[in-house]
Amino acid sequence: KSPGTGQRLLVIPQGIEQARFFQAIEELGQTLGVENVEVNDKPLVDGWYMEHPNTHDMMPILDDEELVASAVVYPSDTEEVQKIVLWANKYRVPIFPISMGRNLGYGGAAPRVRGSVVIDLGKRMNRILDINPDDYTCLVEPGVSFYALYETIQAKGYKHMWIDTPDLGGGSVVGNTLDRGVGYTPYGDHWACHSGLEVVLPTGEVIRTGMGALPGNSTWQTFPYGFGPYSDGIFSQSNFGIVTKMGMTLMPNPGGYESFMYAFEKDEDLEALIEIIRPLRIGSILENVAQVRHVIQTLAVKGRLRTNYFTGDGAIPEEIVHEHARKMPVGDHSWLYYGMSYGPEHIRKYKLDIIDKEFRKIPGARRIDPKTLPEDEYFWSRDRIAAGVPDLVELLWVNWVPNGSHVAFSPVSPIRGTDAMKLFNMGKRLHDKYGIDFFPAFCVGLREMHLIVEIVFDKKDPKKRKAANDCLRELIDDAAKEGYGEYRTHLVLMDQVAGTYGWNDNALKKFNEKLKDALDPNGILAPGKSGIWPARYRKRGWEL
Ligand code: ADP
Repeated sequence: KSPGTGQRLLVIPQGIEQARFFQAIEELGQTLGVENVEVNDKPLVDGWYMEHPNTHDMMPILDDEELVASAVVYPSDTEEVQKIVLWANKYRVPIFPISMGRNLGYGGAAPRVRGSVVIDLGKRMNRILDINPDDYTCLVEPGVSFYALYETIQAKGYKHMWIDTPDLGGGSVVGNTLDRGVGYTPYGDHWACHSGLEVVLPTGEVIRTGMGALPGNSTWQTFPYGFGPYSDGIFSQSNFGIVTKMGMTLMPNPGGYESFMYAFEKDEDLEALIEIIRPLRIGSILENVAQVRHVIQTLAVKGRLRTNYFTGDGAIPEEIVHEHARKMPVGDHSWLYYGMSYGPEHIRKYKLDIIDKEFRKIPGARRIDPKTLPEDEYFWSRDRIAAGVPDLVELLWVNWVPNGSHVAFSPVSPIRGTDAMKLFNMGKRLHDKYGIDFFPAFCVGLREMHLIVEIVFDKKDPKKRKAANDCLRELIDDAAKEGYGEYRTHLVLMDQVAGTYGWNDNALKKFNEKLKDALDPNGILAPGKSGIWPARYRKRGWEL
């Protein structure tokens, strides 16, 4: 029986007796203040992106009650995070840190182990500790969103500095960077652009990485490496520490910018297009993450239900998608390329002329003049994002189905036309098999590309959840057979994805486990995250 309202049965972490768990929670309340420790005994409410829950995954692909927290706690500073960690060690309670928990499609705020105590760092640790207008850097806590950072820089009148934002700006700068999320300015590789971490280790010690380890330094945010082994890497996509501060570099205002868009007629044009993109991207003529989106997304991002276009069974037929695309301001197409050129006009012109000449080598390629596009066209959302202005329009395609949820398949591949076509055909075949609409977008980093396929599903329909899960699992395995691996994944798929990185008899997994056991001997911190299980959990049926 749960305490408090009794409206929902409280999930207690496995292996701890109920009375002892309640005693532990009471003790934590005394340490942090009772108002900063909430047990999760109320009905699970999903809300939406900006009012998302911190108790569970609001876009579940398993049962609603599978990935749920027993309680949520709100520390106010690093010292309180240390206290929580020591408490978790004392009672052997699994804890799961989130920054803001807007990691939707990858598990949101949910913990991997049912009944974990979620540490919501974002609610009270949301200070921008420093913005340095000379070095173009900042130092932030986990609760600072891309919106908050952007707005603070604007309020200070720092017109000479830009931030980089991912597709949705409501998430945490720290959370997104640790999960190796990306944005769309030349500073889009967030992990590569960070400098310096403060980390609470699973046994309670605090470290600062890079120059942060040198007392009295003033280079923590300008030289990421410091001296000795570069430890930051083990704190991203891991469960080796809780990051309480992070340095980030900011981009100089380039002195002008201009979005551009090209349309390509046929699915098969992708092959030639990717070959054209590679040298231009590596040579920085294409300066930001190149996005190549399939036509169905032109429809979906209008935010209307798919039943407005098609009410039959299975994936929406291509002819219907094209028929509706034809009526849109961008006209019919198979692929749209969204890009931005930076700098003063004469510099942009130099690059845009090269791009135009190259893209037009593909028969039927069309440059779409932005002046012809209405204000609410999705193009303008991409324009804001590529100029470092946070945005939320990207959420609209989730409305493609009722109770719309999404989960991603995101393999990394070389920037090669043949790889693009292989992944496209594989995705299409498996989506058709499971009757799911196929939403592919290729995002070209610099020397590699990610294919991002978002499966949009009705989370209230168990059959659709299962289809999404089955399709993803088959995609991951088939892609791995061809040498492609995911750059990031949902909590439920982490074991499978980690398993595909199995070279040399799972040597990397064994190394991660060795680190885990050394750093977290009681196995309390985010067990199972990224497929890394502490000794206490290994081979006890936790893997999915
Ligand atoms: P966002 O707010 O950008 O959506 P989240 O807070 O959901 O990001 O973080 C994404 C994932 O990164 C979380 O599920 C968690 O595993 C990990 N994470 C986030 N913040 C921290 C942190 N401060 N320390 C350690 N891991 C973190």
